[in-house]
Amino acid sequence: MANAPVQRMSQLMAKTLRDDPADAEVLSHKLLVRAGYVRRTAAGIWTWLPLGKKVLANVERIVREEMDAIGAQEVMLPALLPREPYDATGRWDEYGAELFRLKDRKGGDYLLGPTHEEIFTLLVKDQASSYKDLPVILYQIQTKFRDEARPRAGILRGREFLMKDSYSFDLEDEGLAQSYALHRQAYQRIFERLGLDYRICAATAGAMGGSKSEEFLAPAEAGEDTFADCPNCDFAANTEAISYPLKPVDGSGEPALEEIPTPDTPTIETLAASLGVPASATLKNLLVKVDGEIVAVGVPGDREVDMDKVEAHFAPAAVELVTVEDFVGRPDLVRGYVGPQGLEKATYIADPRVAPGTSWITGANKEGMHAKNVVAGRDFEVDAYVDVVVVQEGDPCPRCGTGLKLDRAIEIGHIFQLGRKYADALKLDVLGQNGKPVRVTMGSYGVGVSRAVAALAEQTADEQGLCWPKEVAPADVHVVAAGKALQTELALDVSQKLAAAGVRVLVDDRAGVSPGVKFTDAELIGVPQILVAGRRSAEGVLELKDRRTGEREELTMDEAIARLT
Ligand code: ATP
Ligand code: MG
Ligand code: MG
Ligand code: MG
Repeated sequence: MANAPVQRMSQLMAKTLRDDPADAEVLSHKLLVRAGYVRRTAAGIWTWLPLGKKVLANVERIVREEMDAIGAQEVMLPALLPREPYDATGRWDEYGAELFRLKDRKGGDYLLGPTHEEIFTLLVKDQASSYKDLPVILYQIQTKFRDEARPRAGILRGREFLMKDSYSFDLEDEGLAQSYALHRQAYQRIFERLGLDYRICAATAGAMGGSKSEEFLAPAEAGEDTFADCPNCDFAANTEAISYPLKPVDGSGEPALEEIPTPDTPTIETLAASLGVPASATLKNLLVKVDGEIVAVGVPGDREVDMDKVEAHFAPAAVELVTVEDFVGRPDLVRGYVGPQGLEKATYIADPRVAPGTSWITGANKEGMHAKNVVAGRDFEVDAYVDVVVVQEGDPCPRCGTGLKLDRAIEIGHIFQLGRKYADALKLDVLGQNGKPVRVTMGSYGVGVSRAVAALAEQTADEQGLCWPKEVAPADVHVVAAGKALQTELALDVSQKLAAAGVRVLVDDRAGVSPGVKFTDAELIGVPQILVAGRRSAEGVLELKDRRTGEREELTMDEAIARLT
């Protein structure tokens, strides 16, 4: 195997910046831009510079190795996709505003793939004909497109981003459970190797549909998910996936379901039927006024609301949509919403415009009010976006009753048992052992490859800057020439020798840049080991510094090479 050439900072296509980018809200965004890993091209659209690309490639490699290890086969499907399969499953419409739809020159409808269940289902339909062809797991590492409502967290939430998505195809439920378990193990190995701190949490299936689903959540302040962790048992769940009976805002007493002024309490079945969606859909919350009273009814997550159908369901009551203003000064508005088990959950929002410091139960979703004609930024201030917290700190663990601990986290992976939803819609059968067609059962599994880079940055950075774990770092050692010609010569010499021994080297050989600036940059860039040719270069003595601990040691060139190889 050829050794990587020494990467010279004097030639590197990246500049470090002293100041945080003006629009940066989260740490990873600030640091990845400042350290010259990524550049913003447009909202939620990013360019990966050489250092960033190296880290991304390392994450990709780890994901690929662990997917290959469970027998998954890598393929590459197109990102530009025809509409028809998405019509067959209903997702052309149901995916909502997040789907990038486009037309070709002949007026045909296309989309940019946000996730590929349909296309993989069709691929297997085309390729597999008998039970002998199954089980099979296919995966790709590919750019995905989602027109996110709030692409505000840098690489964490792109509108174009890199995902590993895989899909399993099995004949029986037990096979699916096995494929799911394989993925769960592979994901554990991936995130351990990446050096990410993570929890496996129960999750809701959301727009994907299906039954069992778990998320891999990396605790971090910048995260947009909240998970509940039980200090007593091994229960951990995204708060979205926890149900409790309704309870009033002040936490006192048990509210009776009769208090909810819904004319007839809709069940998932009646509601789904009235909205024309499959009952397997996860119904999220929509607030409407019925006879002037605000009630919450379920609507499928992330889908356009068909108000005609909502009205038909509540007929003859007058239905009117609710806006944020309806909540101002109304602490009495305590409502539940329809979840998979019927009217079961309450959601709380903390909206300072409603009542400072008060948690409110409403039916807003993450993107704001789910209401026709209501457009964020136009019809209400963007600061009216509400943070939905279903469960509050200290609420009882559904398994053992202990008070739950809540933390913010970044969703880095998600695994689903889809069942036969897609196989039914696209008629994916193979011939069974008895010669009769068998409907295939599926799973789908995602890792946010580009997001993992930012999540790692969030979890590992310190005051000085980025601080990569060894396996993902853009280099093994950052050699700094801290001085004049003598130091540069020594730095380049040791760099060449290290590279010849298979060490990945980044060397700061920039002329006319002070040692102080070079040290600051080395800390910012975050390569695990920093090797400095400085004061004692004439004697051939270098200083080795551990980026994380800050420990320093003086070594001869031979000692340094021995230490780093
Ligand atoms: P989120 O809840 O953060 O919007 P999601 O649940 O919509 O994510 P999935 O459909 O489960 O995402 O996709 C699989 C994985 O892809 C996620 O677990 C996440 O790591 C990654 N991912 C999803 N959306 C984005 C995005 N906009 N930018 C970067 N990574 C993303
Ligand atoms: Mg999403
Ligand atoms: Mg999610
Ligand atoms: Mg998800």
